[in-house]
Amino acid sequence: MKKQFVVIGMGRFGTSVAKTLSNLGFEVLAIDSDEIRTQEISNIVTHVVQADSTDEEALRALGLRNFDVVVVAIGEDIQASILTTIILKEMGVPKVIVKAQTELHGKVLRKVGADKVVFPERDMGQRVAHHLISSNIIDYIELSEDYSIVEILASGQLVGKTLRQLDIRAKFGCNVMGIKTGDRMNIAPYADDMIKENDILVVVGKNTDLQHFEMTFGE
Ligand code: ATP
Repeated sequence: MKKQFVVIGMGRFGTSVAKTLSNLGFEVLAIDSDEIRTQEISNIVTHVVQADSTDEEALRALGLRNFDVVVVAIGEDIQASILTTIILKEMGVPKVIVKAQTELHGKVLRKVGADKVVFPERDMGQRVAHHLISSNIIDYIELSEDYSIVEILASGQLVGKTLRQLDIRAKFGCNVMGIKTGDRMNIAPYADDMIKENDILVVVGKNTDLQHFEMTFGE
């Protein structure tokens, strides 16, 4: 059976999550305490309910424990986001994913049982900053506190060389996971694959090693 999702809080983030899941063909129940927000979302997802997620009875009545994943996308009202997370975990929802405003908010959410905490503003800020530092950095995804994936545009010294010649793993401690050439993605590059101008290298590694790599090959 297909997974069933609930998204609580129809701000920009919650709406985007609900819309994407719905477009991918999943059933989504969207909840917001605001009447206008619920009306706005009703033509995007199948089921919409106006309710306050800090009202335990209301959540029980909606049978939220039977859903696989609940996304809590309440931003500004930190108290409501924490209370909602506690209620959902106590009800037995298997997976609760919560958007956090700040690191401290995130810490509290983990303590009260959130299965995953996401920081969309912080993550997007980091991605934009990396792109600003080097125009060759196309994208940046943090995997953990110490490890990330970067997409770097091949130019200068990278072009015309093979992975064997560049010896990135030995010199920088990073791994080239893939090479994008136009629309084609080579997800298992060989040591003798040659890097062409405008290829995009997908590199995974420790942040400090990636920085070293970016400084050497970025522009
Ligand atoms: P974004 O940045 O994603 O636009 P935000 O971080 O500014 O969102 P808010 O606008 O504070 O977040 O909240 C998102 C939505 O959550 C709003 O539509 C709001 O009505 C709803 N919301 C806030 N508190 C509750 C609650 N207790 N129960 C249900 N919905 C709530």
